Amino acid sequence: MAVGGTAILALVVASNLRERRNELGILLSLGERKPKLLAQHLVEVAACALVAVGLAAAGGQFLSQAVGDRLLAGEVSSAREQAASENRRPDPSAIAGGSGSPSTSGQDEPAPIDRMDIRVGPADIGRIGATGLAIAALLPGVRVLRLPPRHPLEGKLTMAAILELAGVSHTYRSGSGKRTVLKSIDYAFEAGRTYAVIGPSGSGKTTLLSLASGLDTPTAGTVRFDGRDVREIGLGTYRNQHAATVFQSLNLLTYMTAVQNITSAMEITRVKGRRHKQRAVELLDLLGIDRADQHRRTLQLSGGQQQRVAIARALACEVDVLFADEPTGALDHDTAADIIEVFRKLARDEGKCVIVVTHSPHVASASDEILRLKRGRLSLP
Ligand code: ADP
Ligand code: MG
Repeated sequence: MAVGGTAILALVVASNLRERRNELGILLSLGERKPKLLAQHLVEVAACALVAVGLAAAGGQFLSQAVGDRLLAGEVSSAREQAASENRRPDPSAIAGGSGSPSTSGQDEPAPIDRMDIRVGPADIGRIGATGLAIAALLPGVRVLRLPPRHPLEGKLTMAAILELAGVSHTYRSGSGKRTVLKSIDYAFEAGRTYAVIGPSGSGKTTLLSLASGLDTPTAGTVRFDGRDVREIGLGTYRNQHAATVFQSLNLLTYMTAVQNITSAMEITRVKGRRHKQRAVELLDLLGIDRADQHRRTLQLSGGQQQRVAIARALACEVDVLFADEPTGALDHDTAADIIEVFRKLARDEGKCVIVVTHSPHVASASDEILRLKRGRLSLP
C-alpha cells in the first residue's frame, strides 16, 4: 500500500511539474524569485500529498481487505477439506497462523478466524506522505526549474558602457559532441543607444542575447552590467531589475489576457508608481492592440498581436536594457516601423539601451549601431 500511495503521489507531482515547466520558465525569465516558486511548488505538492495519501489509504484498506479475505477463505476451505479427508476437525489456529497450541478438544479452542482485520493506521499514512514528499522535494533539484537553454551579443569598450561582454565564449555540449557558438566576444553597449544584431540563422544570435540578458552564463568570459559581473549581481536579480527580453518564442502566459500578462510581469519586477493596469492599457494602446483584444486571452490573439503584447510586457518592466529577439518577424512593414520608433524613443528619451536581433534590413538601418555575428565573432558589417 505504501508503494502504491508513493507511486500515485510521485505521478501527480511529476505531471504537475511537467505541465508547469513552461510557465515556471517564463516566470523565472521575468526574474521571479526562485524561493517563491519553490514555496509555491511545495504547497502544491503538500496539497497533492494529502489527496494522494487519502486515496492510497482508502484504496489500500479496501484492496488488502478484499485480497486478505479471499486468501484466508481459500486457506480455510483447503484446511477443512484436508481435515475432512483425515476425518478430524480442522485446526483453526494452524489455519490462521495463531499462537494457540494444536488442540482437538472443543472447550478452550479459539473461535476459527475466517476474516482478516486489516487497518491502515496513522503511522502508515505518515510513512507514505513522508516518502512521497521526499521524492517531490527532490524533483526541483533535477533541473525542472531551468529554462531550456536559450541564448545572446560584441564591440568596443567605453566608459559609458552599461553592458559589457568581456571574452565571452559559449560552447554547447550534447552527448559526446560539442559546438562552440561564440568565440571570445568583447563588446560594450551604451545607454541611450539602439543596436541591431544581424547574422545567418544558427550563428548564435539567440545564444548571445541569453548570455547578455542573464538567462544563461557563458562557458568563458564575463558579462558586466554597470561595471559589475552579473553573476555577482545574481542572474535572477539582474533579469528582474535591469534586463527585459522579448523572446523569439514570445513566452506569453497564454491562459492570461494581454493586460494580465503585463500586470503580472510588473508585479514580479516590482514596478513602482502608476497603476499597473492603466499602464498596461497605455502600452497596448501605443502598440496598436485594440481595447477588446487587450482583454482576450493571448492564445486567442494573432501572431502579430502576440508579438506586440510581448513587446509591451518588456517595455512595462522599465528596465535599463531591453533585449528583443526578432521582434518584428510576424509584423507587417508599417507596424514594424512603429515598433522601431518605440525602441528609438525609449533609447533617446529615457536613456535605455535597446539590443535587437533582426533579419530585417529596415530594423537594422534604423538602429544606431549594426553588429554582425558570423562564425562565432561579432563585427561591424
Ligand atoms: P540563431 O539565433 O542565430 O539562429 P542560436 O543561438 O539559436 O542561433 O543557435 C546557435 C547554434 O547553437 C545553433 O547551431 C544551435 O543548433 C545551437 N544551439 C542553440 N541552443 C542549443 C542548445 N540548448 N543545445 C545545443 N545546441 C544549441
Ligand atoms: Mg535565434
